[in-house]
Amino acid sequence: MSGCTALIVAAGRGSRFGGDLPKQYTLLAGQPVLRHTVSAFLNCPVIDNVRVVIHRDDRGLYDQAVGDLNLLEPVLGGDSRQESVRFGLESLSDLVPDTVLIHDAARPFSGNEIIERVVIGLQTHSGAIPAIAVNDTLKRGDQNTIVETVPRDNLWRAQTPQGFRYAEILLAHHQLVDDELTDDAALMEKNGCAVALVDGHENNFKITTSADLLRAEIMLNSGDIRTGYGYDVHRFEPGDQVMLCGVSVPHDQGLAGHSDADVGLHALTDAILGAIGEGDIGIHFPPSDEQWRGSPSDIFLAKARDLVIAKGGTIQNVDLTLICEHPKVSPHRHAMSQRIAEILKIDPSRVNIKGTTTEGLGFTGRSEGIAAQAVATVCL
Ligand code: MG
Repeated sequence: MSGCTALIVAAGRGSRFGGDLPKQYTLLAGQPVLRHTVSAFLNCPVIDNVRVVIHRDDRGLYDQAVGDLNLLEPVLGGDSRQESVRFGLESLSDLVPDTVLIHDAARPFSGNEIIERVVIGLQTHSGAIPAIAVNDTLKRGDQNTIVETVPRDNLWRAQTPQGFRYAEILLAHHQLVDDELTDDAALMEKNGCAVALVDGHENNFKITTSADLLRAEIMLNSGDIRTGYGYDVHRFEPGDQVMLCGVSVPHDQGLAGHSDADVGLHALTDAILGAIGEGDIGIHFPPSDEQWRGSPSDIFLAKARDLVIAKGGTIQNVDLTLICEHPKVSPHRHAMSQRIAEILKIDPSRVNIKGTTTEGLGFTGRSEGIAAQAVATVCL
């Protein structure tokens, strides 16, 4: 016996998006739908193993989508969803999990909370499914005319993952092999097993139409928007070049500093750290630490980027202003934005570099040093 296995059913042919690609392999925010779905289970602590049931023609698509993830070897599905689930369950006969969660590949937003509620439901019931109470008034129609109003009391919309004790759901699938039922809970009900209803969520919808795909895209791109600000100054010292935004710019002076004194990347690193509530560059790279002496500043910026990624976030855009009389920024602006985009692994169109003077006023006006200001927007 070994814990809880998730069985992801991805053997369908359905595509209502106009292309030939089955919907579970369609790209959603740059990744196949199946990868989003599978990742939800791989990242859930109550799940021990994940296996995907695929169509016989889809092995190449599967390998491309999730081949690098830590999954059990996929199994081939059958001619109907019910048959595909049965083949998936039979494939677990060596593993013999205590419980199994059966889930539609086209529902990428099941999330930890729903998965855990289903698993908790299995402690007291043979099965548990997430469901949503019906709030709309229900009508039975004949063509386009109402025949009657159907009482909605105790009516629920069933979602997945549907959880079951492995031995019982396998038995139900074998006993009811000739019945065509629309979900797995229906087989258990027919066998007289108690199936619990636990709270589902409207966001745990199934991507069926292109409108659903658009809704999913909007959901993924409308996270918690954060903004951070950074400011830095370095003074001039004798030298023949300055590092600005990761680019070596010839100049008749250099910049003094513990690292390579890249004032632009320092301001930008602070802006990103600020956006995600991670303090400032000095906390992560103390100037008292000798190992950062003379360091190229791209390692500071890469660290800030990695912290964003570790929080499941994305850098939406950055905007940076270099403040000095000389050197002139504009000839190097393109190279600077390219270099920053490369370090942050984002599109160069999301990186803006500006240069300004202070009209001869103040320390920058007297050419005593260079100042930089940066703003970063992060979606968490
Ligand atoms: Mg600095």
